[in-house]
Amino acid sequence: MNYKEIFSKINESLNQTKDSGKVASYIKELGNVDPTKFGIHLTTVNHLHYHFGDSEEKFSIQSIAKVLALVLAYKLEDEKLWERVGVEPSGTSFNSLFQLEFDKGIPRNPLINSGALVISDILVSHLNNPKKDFMEFLKNVSGNSEIDYCQRIAESEKLTGHRNAALINLMKSFGNIKNDIDEVLDFYFNLCSIEMTCRELSKTFLFMAAYGVNPYNDEIILSVSKSKRINAILQLCGFYDEAGEFAFKVGLPGKSGVGGGIVAILPNKYSIAVWSPRLNKKGNSSKGIKFLELFTTETETSIF
Ligand code: GLN
Repeated sequence: MNYKEIFSKINESLNQTKDSGKVASYIKELGNVDPTKFGIHLTTVNHLHYHFGDSEEKFSIQSIAKVLALVLAYKLEDEKLWERVGVEPSGTSFNSLFQLEFDKGIPRNPLINSGALVISDILVSHLNNPKKDFMEFLKNVSGNSEIDYCQRIAESEKLTGHRNAALINLMKSFGNIKNDIDEVLDFYFNLCSIEMTCRELSKTFLFMAAYGVNPYNDEIILSVSKSKRINAILQLCGFYDEAGEFAFKVGLPGKSGVGGGIVAILPNKYSIAVWSPRLNKKGNSSKGIKFLELFTTETETSIF
């Protein structure tokens, strides 16, 4: 498959229409990113690489990191994890509060902010030095020692993280947060601040296309069953209240972040990362979703 040619053909056709999306500005530092950036990197399970555009530039992966935190928490807690967080699509925005009150502090799924805060709380309970230990896990999974948090973004998010503070306080009142709120929020903001290039992101998620096996050292990160279950969560919850539309148009499990990144997986075949900072009204990369829709149509790939 000549992926490179397909990337450039789709890019040309997308450039014919104006992207009406807006760069996230509720986190001040994210608002400073050049909105015209566009990068793609696809890694096959046989370690072939195909890229396009700004694929070697670091960006803030934001909520995409929630998946990696979930992987580690699932490893540590097994099925007990689901006593504290659900696996149902939320149908609400990523930082919605009202459903949480109705559900008595149990988030619908681990990929909305409330769910990722519970996952962060679980990791803070398990890990001796949460930020350091999590980063070590991530470096191993990604086969890359260059990955790191971005202090500048974490600090910037802390300054305007009022909704996340509201979510965690509400959950604490229901007994679903066990640790100190500030410590958990600090872990969560750092988690969201992680920076990667499209190449690094696509390589990091390759284990999800390889049924949980680390493609860089053959270690089992997740059992086959667990990796399938996480892909199911990505499919149903990875794009918040646009998850149905993403399944309908793209047909792959995936996850977005407000930094404009998207990663998507075709089990047994490839992992693809796309970055374009302008977001649609649901907080997902507008060009990224359109690109993936045309890409899976053109390559006739889908999990269905
Ligand atoms: N750090 C962001 C927040 O908590 C993550 C949101 C996202 O990427 N959807 O608001």
